Amino acid sequence: SKTPVIEVGGVSQSVKWTDQVRLDRLLGRTRSFLKVQDGCSQFCTYCIVPKLRGRGRSQPIAEAVDHASYLIDKGFKEIVLTGCALGTYGFDFEMSDSLTRLLLALDKIPGSHRIRLGSVEPWAVTADFLRVIADSERICPHLHIPLQSCDDSVLRRMNRRYRVADIRGILDSAFRLREDWGFGSDIIVGFPGETDEQFENTRAFLYDSRISYLHVFPFSSRPGTAATKLPGFIESGLKHNRVKQLAALDTELRKRFCERHLGKSCRVLFENRYVDGLLAGHADNYLDVYIAPSPGLIGKHVEVKIEKLSTDGVEGALHEREES
Ligand code: SF4
Repeated sequence: SKTPVIEVGGVSQSVKWTDQVRLDRLLGRTRSFLKVQDGCSQFCTYCIVPKLRGRGRSQPIAEAVDHASYLIDKGFKEIVLTGCALGTYGFDFEMSDSLTRLLLALDKIPGSHRIRLGSVEPWAVTADFLRVIADSERICPHLHIPLQSCDDSVLRRMNRRYRVADIRGILDSAFRLREDWGFGSDIIVGFPGETDEQFENTRAFLYDSRISYLHVFPFSSRPGTAATKLPGFIESGLKHNRVKQLAALDTELRKRFCERHLGKSCRVLFENRYVDGLLAGHADNYLDVYIAPSPGLIGKHVEVKIEKLSTDGVEGALHEREES
């Protein structure tokens, strides 16, 4: 029988996952979260997580598979893997590829569900990792990668362990494997010492990329982090000007992402959510899709032919019903 609380990585801090399940069922949700990692040992200079949550701890693969199976048995159609720093999953097992192994194991669970990854740091996005997702019917080709900056000197000051060439490599490899990825990213602007040129490097890289959306944050200094001691404080007017520029770019990237789908068909999971009288759902790659409501669509994976752009996504019509 399932215990009400699981221990992540056998350490004392626990994750109350069954509370989440009860709440999700109560709200009639189609999606449930599965936290497989907690804490972090990376020490990015702006981040307080390692101090607040302790060292990185991962749920062993067998346990994660067991819990995912439980959620699938309960009828959830989408399982979202989460963690404080999911990209460090398995580092405490001294295995740098264990997130890929976890995906391979989860992919074998039978059922009509799909698996989505929460935010994954760039260092975990290896060629094997991308291939496992690209080849899978169940794992969504959607990655939210917290790049934070696309300028090497800013990344160095942030103590992020990848460079712009690595980011370019990830995107190139991914799109060589399949065309329909959805890529999101978090970006921090106004990090101490970020010059106009360094900001422009980030903006220009993102503009030229096939990233589909951005979450933009102005740098905010957290007491107790190394970044508070870095020189080059950016005043708030300049920071917010940069936020505005990237917010405009986010709108542009979302529009391009939507436009790439016009006339194509994609698999969509409809949720119990309506916008302007239309039923809302997400495609596997996280495209926002709307459709005229018809009975029995909620909680089903269906093929939708994309017909036109809407305010914040696309509208389509039922293509062909899938068994699920
Ligand atoms: S930003 Fe992410 S990877 Fe870096 S220390 Fe914080 S939790 Fe860890």
